[in-house]
Amino acid sequence: MYQVLSCIQEDHGLFYVLMAVFVCTLGAVCALVVFHRGLDSTAERDRRLWAAASGMVTGLGVWGTHFVAMLGYHPGFEVAYDGTVTVLSALVAIAGFVAVSQVLITGFGPLRRALCAFLATLTLVTMHFYGQSSLRASALMEYDSGYVVAAVGLCAVFFGLTYMVGISTTKRWRNLWGVVFTLLAVASVHFIGMASMEVFPIRGLAEVGWTLSRGDLTTFLIAGVVLVLVATMMGAGLDRKVSRLRIQENRRIGMLADSASEGIVIADAEGRVVEVNKSAENLLGAQRSELLGRPARPLAGLNTTLSGSPRYIETSLTNSEGLSIPVVVRTRDLTHRDDGFTIYAISDQRERMRRDAEIRALAFSDQLSGLANREAFQRELIAMIDAGTGAHTAVILLDLDEFKGVNDQFGHSAGDTVIIETAKRLGQLVPKDGLAARLGGDEFAVLTGRSIPAADVEAFAGECVEALSQPVLHEGLAIRSSASAGACIIGAEASDISELLKSADRALYAAKADGRRRARVYDEDLHERFEARRNVEIALSKAVENDEFVLYYQPKVCAATRKVLAYEALIRWERPGHGLVMPNDFIDVAEQSMVVNDIGRWCIMEACKAAAGWETHLGVSVNLSARQFLDPNLYGDVREALRSSGLEPHRLELEITETAIIHNIHVAASLLEKFKKLGVQIALDDFGTGYSSMRFVQQLPFDRIKIDRSFVMAMDTDEKAFAIVDAILRLGQSLSIPVVAEGVETEAQALRLLEANCLEFQGFLISHPAPMPVALAEITGEQQVSGAG
Ligand code: C2E
Ligand code: CA
Ligand code: CA
Repeated sequence: MYQVLSCIQEDHGLFYVLMAVFVCTLGAVCALVVFHRGLDSTAERDRRLWAAASGMVTGLGVWGTHFVAMLGYHPGFEVAYDGTVTVLSALVAIAGFVAVSQVLITGFGPLRRALCAFLATLTLVTMHFYGQSSLRASALMEYDSGYVVAAVGLCAVFFGLTYMVGISTTKRWRNLWGVVFTLLAVASVHFIGMASMEVFPIRGLAEVGWTLSRGDLTTFLIAGVVLVLVATMMGAGLDRKVSRLRIQENRRIGMLADSASEGIVIADAEGRVVEVNKSAENLLGAQRSELLGRPARPLAGLNTTLSGSPRYIETSLTNSEGLSIPVVVRTRDLTHRDDGFTIYAISDQRERMRRDAEIRALAFSDQLSGLANREAFQRELIAMIDAGTGAHTAVILLDLDEFKGVNDQFGHSAGDTVIIETAKRLGQLVPKDGLAARLGGDEFAVLTGRSIPAADVEAFAGECVEALSQPVLHEGLAIRSSASAGACIIGAEASDISELLKSADRALYAAKADGRRRARVYDEDLHERFEARRNVEIALSKAVENDEFVLYYQPKVCAATRKVLAYEALIRWERPGHGLVMPNDFIDVAEQSMVVNDIGRWCIMEACKAAAGWETHLGVSVNLSARQFLDPNLYGDVREALRSSGLEPHRLELEITETAIIHNIHVAASLLEKFKKLGVQIALDDFGTGYSSMRFVQQLPFDRIKIDRSFVMAMDTDEKAFAIVDAILRLGQSLSIPVVAEGVETEAQALRLLEANCLEFQGFLISHPAPMPVALAEITGEQQVSGAG
């Protein structure tokens, strides 16, 4: 021990000892940095190369340490070094530590660590004693074997610790121990080795060709070693930093690619997969490793034969589980350096399609009933016409007869129940290839499909009507409401859905007009009726300006004296090509449009003008239709007619029916009041047929009540009819309102009415309506009393 210490203290200069420690530490640190750089690499080749560099640095460091220390060695005479041995000993150190690093880079198992310690010891010892022999250029040496063994033993122990403790990727502080133990291993071999040696100076040994002086070696060695070590370390450190950044960047790009919801597949110029992201793995149902190298186009569901692919394609791919998935694939070609890549971005369409289907279901179904809605119904009709395959034999429109009443009477929740129940019943009746729809409100429609032949459509529609006319249970209440149906058979030549719907609608209208709770099929008969009606409508619109109307007059007489009191104006239409058309054949149609107002205005004008020319005790009656009565211009028109004709207002009588009043009793009341003020008379026409409301008679200022002719005409045969006539006459008497009997055709009727205290009547018995007021002289039986012009 003493010898070792004195060797350090006396034989070695302190500067060289510190220098040696510095070089050794630097070498060990550099080697560690480089080695860790190797550990960071993923490619096997890179790992091995970095490990080799680390070995080289260790060897160089250890060798440098040795020689720096040697430089500080002063045995007491001038020494020189054999250059060849010096260089070869460096190679020994490098080779040995490269071998160590190659073992260590493959793994940190205990066996490998032990092997490394052994190899390192072997290398260091060999290098030391062989390197020592370079002194032979100026000296002879002798060794003490005890020291040599101690040096080798300690070296083995410290290298054991270096490799057992000193290398760790997780615990960085352990690497510090590695540096310390390496230093101790090197120091123990060097200083104990030197202490074990005795040297004797010799002069001028001829065999040594290349000797190095101490001075040469010093600068050359320190500068060279330090430079190499620092450069290596910086290189490794820099490279490590760069590759860390690259790894981080790759990881980030990977994260970015993986977070994309689209599956991304990158193919090389041969069309083989080189990269995929997570979504692509999920979509294709396979791991990245299974996908790499496979042809990309078939994976993405693209036709392999098609090259120069479109950029955007809708297709479907089959994943590894055999599941077919609808996808949209966008392709993009990329050139990177000299390589061509194709990127396939595959987006799964299942979710979108599911949502589309949901939206479609919402858009095409009726929320309350769950049936198809109007939109869906029309689409189906259009599709059927477009396809021309006769997918349906008929369109049936259904309508609940009293639905408004149900809502008003039982509330909207009852109304909803009726709709839901109706939908359920229809749904059960309509065949599988048909379609039941709710068009809105209480309107339903059915497309029959092919399974109901045209001949059975009427019966089927009848069945629907029957089913829908059964009572509906709501909160323990049986709600009665009937339905009507109109059907239209779809001919092979059907080309217009509005035509089909119009026909079905006309049939429905006819069914309702026939008394409801029935089904009608639109046929030739109905067609002619509606067409005729339509023609009337068209012709009527021009009839006023073409002056095609005339007024006929029927006298109203005093029952006792048969003296004419007034004339009722009754309209006739001299329709070109049709002869004289009676009001019952066109007033209804006119009522459906605004023409009725024009006709009414003309009548009032014409009647007033005519009456103004009669004897002044004769009045004139004009009929008002219900619609005309609600015309806001009516009052003005009447005033204008009176003014321009000069007729005294009390000679004009307006005949209205209860239908006109019932629509709006308040408007009617105020209007009648105004007419009353004007001095115009008001008669309630057709009494007994409508609502026969006592309330109207009592509340409204009528000047006359006209008993409907149906009662008068039935009087002879039907005692009940007479009872009604009698009751109305009594009512008039008690309210002091004169009553007129219409439709008197026989003397017997006239007599009976007279006996029942009827004061006025009109009818064929006295005269048919005629173009000009008939002079009384022409009236059979009565001569003296004069009539109008
Ligand atoms: P209304 O007001 O009840 O008119 C009396 C109808 O009974 C007239 O039929 C008349 O010809 C007919 N009539 C009169 N006496 C007898 C009879 O003894 N036996 C039979 N069987 N019938 C008799 P017309 O002229 O065909 O008129 C029918 C209906 O048309 C009228 O019934 C009236 O409601 C309506 N109307 C006639 N002219 C006009 C008009 O200018 N404007 C409006 N809005 N409606 C009119
Ligand atoms: Ca009348
Ligand atoms: Ca009448």
